[in-house]
Amino acid sequence: AKDSSLSIEALAQKVMGGDRIMLSKAITLIESNAKHHYQKAQDLLNLLLPNAYPSIRIGITGVPGAGKSTFIEEFGYSLCEKGHKVAVLAIDPSSTVSGGSILGDKTRMERLAKHPNAFIRPSPSTGTLGGVHRKTRESMIACEAAGYDIIIVETVGVGQSEVIVRGMVDFFLLLSITGAGDELQGMKKGIMELADAIVVNKADGENKKLAEKAKREYNQILHFLMPATKGWETKAYTCSALHGDGIQELWDTIKLFIEKTKNSGTFTERRQSQIKEWLFAMIRERLENSFFQHEEIKQYLPFIQNAVMEETITVSNAVDTLFQKYQSSLKNG
Ligand code: GDP
Repeated sequence: AKDSSLSIEALAQKVMGGDRIMLSKAITLIESNAKHHYQKAQDLLNLLLPNAYPSIRIGITGVPGAGKSTFIEEFGYSLCEKGHKVAVLAIDPSSTVSGGSILGDKTRMERLAKHPNAFIRPSPSTGTLGGVHRKTRESMIACEAAGYDIIIVETVGVGQSEVIVRGMVDFFLLLSITGAGDELQGMKKGIMELADAIVVNKADGENKKLAEKAKREYNQILHFLMPATKGWETKAYTCSALHGDGIQELWDTIKLFIEKTKNSGTFTERRQSQIKEWLFAMIRERLENSFFQHEEIKQYLPFIQNAVMEETITVSNAVDTLFQKYQSSLKNG
């Protein structure tokens, strides 16, 4: 009852004032699946959007156990200590399928969470990947309006979610490990082509040599791949998130990347094409929902489907018939 007593304008003011509890509330509103929250969230975002702080958006992916949370904690903490404000968001594809999650449990990154300059939000735990995509993008805007200048979006390296995260960040980092044997062969070329840096983590103790070897092998492969970002050569690096080695060097690399891409115009170009893609993705999603949730289509589709499967009509014919029904009902109101 308390949050409904607070007007959207007041909530926006508090978020822009950097109030972390209110930022959490704002994101809860953004993530809500309740219909009556949707318009409120959009009103809020319209107030926040013009005040979004110019941020650096960094995506991080890696298989479970690669050391993502250890890395983000170490990396994020060092940035907070430098005076940056760091927000960590997550996209957990497992939670959208099963409701269970690989990422996003609250015990992770406890040290970072306690830093006054940090804000950590677990993955929205319900909805389709498309829905989670929207929520994360909008949450990112809320964080930027609250003054967070570094936004980290974390995901698990198990599928489609890498492409989604690549589509919403400036710099994309693939966290890798050695030891699994054929890790290079197992690693999909497609994912390597999304990355602006491949970081072999756990380069410490007895594993250090192996990590250096993996780094060289990655660099050989990267040589033959398309770079993810125009004018930037993707390279492999090593680090030890556990001991904090290589973290500063990586930050220097990211700063250089931002400087270069800003100077060349690639930075702005990418942000603009990302917004455009998001717009079109949302239009497509809404069209699809509008079609499949249409009463007449819902009634008629099973019959058409049977006819197609019995090969009494062609697929094209079936689609034509369905669209005639859909479009004529749109015209009739
Ligand atoms: P995530 O599943 O990718 O988030 O991985 P975690 O951050 O939870 O790390 C998985 C395990 O690897 C934990 O036991 C960490 O302590 C360990 N780990 C993470 N980074 C390093 C590192 O740099 N060196 C070593 N030796 N262990 C690490």
